[in-house]
Amino acid sequence: MSAAPRFELPLPDLAPWRAGNTGVEGVWHFDSGQPGRAVLITALIHGNELCGAWALKGLLEAGVRPARGTLTLALCNLAAFDRFDADRHDAARFVEQDLNRQWTPERLRAADSVERRRAAELAPFAERADWLLDLHSMHEPSAPLLLTGVQPRNLALARQLAAPEHIVIDAGHSDGVRLRDFGRFGLPDAQAGDSRSLLLECGFHGDPASRAVAQDICRRFLQAAGTLDAAALDAALPGWRLLDAPRQWALTVEGAAVARSPRFAFTEAFTGLEHFAHAGTVIGHHDGPGQGEPVVTPYDDCVLVMPSVRQARQGVTVVRFARRRPLA
Ligand SMILES: [Zn+2]
Repeated sequence: MSAAPRFELPLPDLAPWRAGNTGVEGVWHFDSGQPGRAVLITALIHGNELCGAWALKGLLEAGVRPARGTLTLALCNLAAFDRFDADRHDAARFVEQDLNRQWTPERLRAADSVERRRAAELAPFAERADWLLDLHSMHEPSAPLLLTGVQPRNLALARQLAAPEHIVIDAGHSDGVRLRDFGRFGLPDAQAGDSRSLLLECGFHGDPASRAVAQDICRRFLQAAGTLDAAALDAALPGWRLLDAPRQWALTVEGAAVARSPRFAFTEAFTGLEHFAHAGTVIGHHDGPGQGEPVVTPYDDCVLVMPSVRQARQGVTVVRFARRRPLA
């Protein structure tokens, strides 16, 4: 395994914003009293992913209030965040279970872990939201990735946002349902009404740039949703808007490699978005470097999405494969 990248993003002080104003810890809700979308922005679904917490803290400190519709800001897994230690930040991803795999009625009802009870507290806010932006970061250094799911409505919104450069069209994980696929967010376009949901992986967990990426997408999302107009956002959030992406690529996830043991090893220190021209290129091995059955690219013009062995064990996805095309 390559040396872990340095964790340079500071820990945000969330104490002033911890209580929320909804009766649910960490959840803030503001109502313009005017017609408009119900917008939900979530951070800390994983407790070690600090960039979104920085962005929400910034929105709260700036006193951003919706001009139309409602705005809900949720700091999600505070119990995991409380365990954060920059030297072992992966240990703060969750307490008992991954909060981003619990979004089915059965798991929410089960209430048999810290995360399932927390998901049940957060679920009513997600159910009331029209548009969801869920802010995450990644195990490894990488360009930001916007995950739209398979619904064309979310891809259209990604194009409207004009950032980031890389858009991932993926069907989620086999081991549970993500918040961004919860309820009507996961429905086909014809049944989903105005709902939209996007998940942004803002970069490496510890990269200060991930905070700027999270802030920029919040500003773009609030403008696109009609929550506030551009002038009001620029006045409230100076410096948050970054340049538009020079181009956007749609990466359609088709296939993944699932580890068979903690010994899974890649052939190189991949960080994501590596492109392979030919099917059958060896990218890893199941039983350690050069050991056991090789893992190969499944088709020509294949791109690696979020390779990581840090959570590797039997049954865990260590990389997803995507086909690449320009987003017109
Ligand atoms: Zn995450």
